[in-house]
Amino acid sequence: MYAPSSDVRDPPSVYAQAAPPAPVAVPLTGRPHVGVAVIGAGFTGISAALHLAEAGVSVAVLEAKEVGSGASGRAFGQVVPYLKIGHRQILRHYGPERGARVIDAIAAGPDLVFELIARHGIECWPVRTGLIFAAHAPAGRRDLESRTAYWQDRCAPVEMLEGAACAEAVGSSLYAAASLDRRGGNLNPFAYVRGLARAAVAAGAVIHTRTPVRGISRRDGRWVVDAGANGGAEGLTADAVLLATNAYTDDLWPGLRESVVPVRGHGFVSAPLSDNVRHSILPGRQSLTDTRRLFSGVRMLPNGRLHGSAFGPTSGPEPAADFRRVDGRMRQLYPQLGAVQWDETWTGWVAMTTDHVPRVHELAPGLWAGLGYNGRGIAAATLMGRELAARARGAGDDTLTFPLVPMRPQPWYRAAPFMVGALARWYRVRDVVDELRFLPKR
Ligand SMILES: Cc1cc2nc3c(=O)[nH]c(=O)nc-3n(C[C@H](O)[C@H](O)[C@H](O)COP(=O)(O)OP(=O)(O)OC[C@H]3O[C@@H](n4cnc5c(N)ncnc54)[C@H](O)[C@@H]3O)c2cc1C
Repeated sequence: MYAPSSDVRDPPSVYAQAAPPAPVAVPLTGRPHVGVAVIGAGFTGISAALHLAEAGVSVAVLEAKEVGSGASGRAFGQVVPYLKIGHRQILRHYGPERGARVIDAIAAGPDLVFELIARHGIECWPVRTGLIFAAHAPAGRRDLESRTAYWQDRCAPVEMLEGAACAEAVGSSLYAAASLDRRGGNLNPFAYVRGLARAAVAAGAVIHTRTPVRGISRRDGRWVVDAGANGGAEGLTADAVLLATNAYTDDLWPGLRESVVPVRGHGFVSAPLSDNVRHSILPGRQSLTDTRRLFSGVRMLPNGRLHGSAFGPTSGPEPAADFRRVDGRMRQLYPQLGAVQWDETWTGWVAMTTDHVPRVHELAPGLWAGLGYNGRGIAAATLMGRELAARARGAGDDTLTFPLVPMRPQPWYRAAPFMVGALARWYRVRDVVDELRFLPKR
């Protein structure tokens, strides 16, 4: 059985050391009444709280651990204008009108994130010089060319980099071609969610940390939220409740946990690199991913550390630090690295959905959940939070991006760890075959 709440290690210290102080958290006492109770203090919940508070709604956030303790404080940090699936699949999934709306709103996701950062003066290493997607094989190159052409037709700042231009942008001759999308960027996700939370508190939201919610029920026309670590009588009542627990969803609402598949992601950072090596890697400060199935990302942090994510155990207890995979991949990409000292590793849970699009459910009148970002949540969850806030204020599907869909618990949920593990191993084999066929030997 999955246990997504079982992260033993805190979010990475490399993020925490550069983050603003935690927002003031208030102990929950008695049974106050609020307009909206938000459960979960990641990008989704905090964005919802900020947008509600700015609209003058009384809002309280209830978080089992600390702000950013879930995936939001552990993400790789890429702010992407895409969902996991491409524009053709989005149009097929939603139909032409809604599909176009989803594509446009997701493409504008980085604008939303960087505008919030600028407006609230959030210190979170914001870099908006774009994202590099490199082709590891001819099929990957065709996909990137098709996506680039689609966006160029729509006048978006996306271009193909070939040969020497690609090598210069990446800082490596491993790839022959890449797509550079100047709409995206990267940041310190833990600092971003903390900064958003501080802005939400400044706007009037109340945040209760170390306050796990144990039950939600309906009584006398109000939602009753039972919370607190001690099993005591704390809690609150609310006119509306927003569930923003994503991959960390427990059994708070029947079937919600089983409606997504939690998969572990892994992050790694090195000790600071020497000046000449650090300047040779991704000199434009974009983050890099490639078209391999299990290749996640590489970027240089402003403190001169190399940050990578790599394939690892997809479920089970939090694994001990293992730097071998990331080390091999980084040396293949950047032979100039020499011996790298890896300082820190961490993991977090990504919520996957079977159709690879986020979901919004109205679980009962006045109770909504938004989740399932498939590893693309910095922009999409910020947008989802804004939309959940709008729903709590009475907005309907016609004015919002993500339509309400029925919640569907997966009957095979208990078998998911084995299925995901087997799929990841199969992807790994296919990636290795592609590497042997298409990537230069080092
Ligand atoms: C390793 C990794 C790398 C990633 N990289 C990227 C990336 O580069 N770019 C990108 O866009 N996305 C990335 N993602 C995905 C992104 O981080 C998530 O989509 C996003 O953080 C989801 O935000 P959230 O607020 O919905 O959930 P979370 O941040 O997970 O927050 C959920 C919160 O709910 C709380 N909670 C759960 N149950 C309860 C309860 N009963 N009572 C109270 N609180 C509760 C949890 O403690 C948690 O804090 C990555 C994710 C991981 C794990």
